Amino acid sequence: MGLTDLHFDTVAVHSGREDLDAMGVHALPIDLSTTNPLPDIGRGGDSYESMATGGRPLADGGMVYARLWNPTVARFESALAALEGAEAAVAFASGMAATTAMIIAHTGTTGKRHVVAVRPLYGGTDHLLESNLLGTQTTYCTEDEVGASIRDDTALVVIESPANPTLDLVDIANVASQAGDVPVVVDNTFATPVLQNPLALGAAMSLHSATKYIGGHGDVIAGVIACDEATAVKLRGVRAITGALLHPLAAYLLHRGLQTLPLRMRAQQESAARIAVWLQGHPAVRKVHYPGLDGDPRGIVARQMRGTGAMLAVSLHGGYAAADALTSKVRLFTHAVSLGGVDSLIQLPAALTHRPVAPEARPGADVVRISIGLESVDDLIADLDQALS
Ligand SMILES: *Cc1c(COP(=O)(O)O)cnc(C)c1O
Repeated sequence: MGLTDLHFDTVAVHSGREDLDAMGVHALPIDLSTTNPLPDIGRGGDSYESMATGGRPLADGGMVYARLWNPTVARFESALAALEGAEAAVAFASGMAATTAMIIAHTGTTGKRHVVAVRPLYGGTDHLLESNLLGTQTTYCTEDEVGASIRDDTALVVIESPANPTLDLVDIANVASQAGDVPVVVDNTFATPVLQNPLALGAAMSLHSATKYIGGHGDVIAGVIACDEATAVKLRGVRAITGALLHPLAAYLLHRGLQTLPLRMRAQQESAARIAVWLQGHPAVRKVHYPGLDGDPRGIVARQMRGTGAMLAVSLHGGYAAADALTSKVRLFTHAVSLGGVDSLIQLPAALTHRPVAPEARPGADVVRISIGLESVDDLIADLDQALS
């Protein structure tokens, strides 16, 4: 039975493990070799050539060198691709390394340097685009202005949904139809493949900071992009040249993390949905940002998501002073950046993750971002209650 016939949770447990039985092992092996024995110069050289240009190792030529290919990383990539319904996936040393390689692959030698982006984006992504470090020029626009913002030299459309930090939703199919032939990349970090598959909605790439939900335990920095094989060839080509590799130990942890990803997402989401409603009734809270809490007026949650996720943000009546008090008074929540782990985190984006964003696009100093973990929801609510009082 092919994995395509099976339910998502089953694929999460079994994908990327197809070769293990033949190797006589049950758990994922970790291959730490940096170099590999060559069969002979001719075949080793041909395999090198294939991988250095973004292809796969030749069956009789070997993997040559770990900057070009690593089987532990490749297994994680094929597992993630299966969960995204993609032909391929390419993993990187971080989410930002993935974004950088993705921009280079689409601009570097293509003669196209223009990027269209819908804010808000993760602060680091915004910073990379604003900095022009990669020689790109970015037009920021609203979801409905994407089509009008595209030029002859537009290389990419960059969107994020739900967006970091205010959980804004973008209609992916709407953007993809406006973009036409221009590839759309969706930062799918908040939704994960459990809740949203951007490729099925017309996007060319689904990008993850795997540091967050995919790793899920706050101990791995990683990025991964799901896409078609032709795009994967370009991304692997950039990765082979620039070297922003995922370490095999990290790939092992991520692949193991995928097995519990559906379970974690559903449990964390259930608590987040309850906490969002509870916060909405709290007198210190001006607004709760959580997908669908406003009744999903544009029908985006219903159309493109299988759930509303475990991230939320709150705008506080008391502004920065109230945010400062909340983040310092919580006991169970850790006051820290990052998100998506089994333990709950809280932070002020304007001061930290979104600090580099231009003032007019930066979230307000009253907006606190909260990542809900796997603790008892009653304990989390009690902690927020004491910290908000
Ligand atoms: C954290 C994050 C990134 C960057 O990923 P790193 O793994 O930290 O490099 C990108 N997008 C989103 C939505 C994020 O939350």
